[in-house]
Order: sequence, then structure tokens, then C-alpha cells
Amino acid sequence: VVIELLQVNDVIKEVLLFLDNALLYSRIKLELHLDDLLPQVTSDRMQLQQVFLNVLNNAIDAIGKDGLISIRTHTIAGDIRVVIEDNGPGIPDDILPHIFEPFYTTKETGKGTGLGLSITYGLIKKLGGDITVRTHLGQGTAFTITIPLRNESH
Ligand code: ADP
Ligand code: MG
Repeated sequence: VVIELLQVNDVIKEVLLFLDNALLYSRIKLELHLDDLLPQVTSDRMQLQQVFLNVLNNAIDAIGKDGLISIRTHTIAGDIRVVIEDNGPGIPDDILPHIFEPFYTTKETGKGTGLGLSITYGLIKKLGGDITVRTHLGQGTAFTITIPLRNESH
């Protein structure tokens, strides 16, 4: 764990660089609305990368081909909010309550471990933040990640 002052917009761009090929291959369009005035946060770069990577990988899996992912950052009430939205199939009601549980996956054997969101939830809570989800069947899914400007747990 390395706690440093960092710019969340930059961390997002680092993860997108890493996902470049996957996005190109799936012909997924990216819409970035990164707030230029976003203040820096005291947090852990690698853990935040992991959080964004897990959520974005799920969006890519959900979309399949030719979809859209939008990433939005803004400041709200002393926190930073990152909203990652896809126009995939959405999450059915009976699945939604389980997505943050370890080993819960709807993907075929070998394609998913069911650990991504459970790890993500643990990491973001440890960093003093939160993650919530909104979804509409047939329209898509949006994960909202809240990161405190200062991580009080360190
Ligand atoms: P895995 O990706 O290995 O299946 P995760 O913990 O990352 O495990 O996700 C758990 C489940 O949550 C997925 O299998 C999928 O059913 C659902 N899910 C997560 N993100 C999305 C999304 N953006 N759109 C639709 N379903 C999703
Ligand atoms: Mg996953």
C-alpha cells in the first residue's frame, strides 16, 4: 500500500491505456467527461487502478461488441465521484443483490472468477470510499465510485 497525492483522472487514463486493445477489438466507443478541476486525492494508485479495471472489464464483457462506455468524474460534497456507465444488457433483478459477493459470476466457466466486484468493494471500502450500482434491463449499467479527498483510514 502506497499512499500518495494523486489525480484520479490520470489513474483512469492509465487504466484506459491498458485496456486500449480490448476496447479496439470490441469496437467500444469511449466517452470521457473528466472534470479538469478535479482536486487531487490522498490514496493508493495501484488499488484505484484495480477498482477501475475491474469495473471497466465487466462493462466490456457486458457490452460484447459495438457498445458505449462513458466515464465521468466530478467533485461532490468533498468527495470525488467516478461514474462508469455502459449500454450493455443491464443486470436482472435476481442477480443484482449478488454481484458484490465473492465467487458470484454469471459468466461461463473459465471466463469469470466472480472475484472482481468483491475485491473492488473491499478495496474501495478500505480507501474510505463506496461503490454503488444502478441498472436498467436493456439499457445498461452505471457504477458510481466515491473516493474521499483524504483517506482517513491511513
Ligand atoms: P466476474 O466478472 O468474474 O463474473 P465480478 O465480481 O466482476 O465477477 O462480477 C460479478 C457479476 O456481476 C458478473 O458475472 C455479471 O453477472 C455482473 N456484472 C458486473 N458488472 C456488470 C455490467 N456492467 N453489466 C452487466 N452485468 C454485470
Ligand atoms: Mg469481473
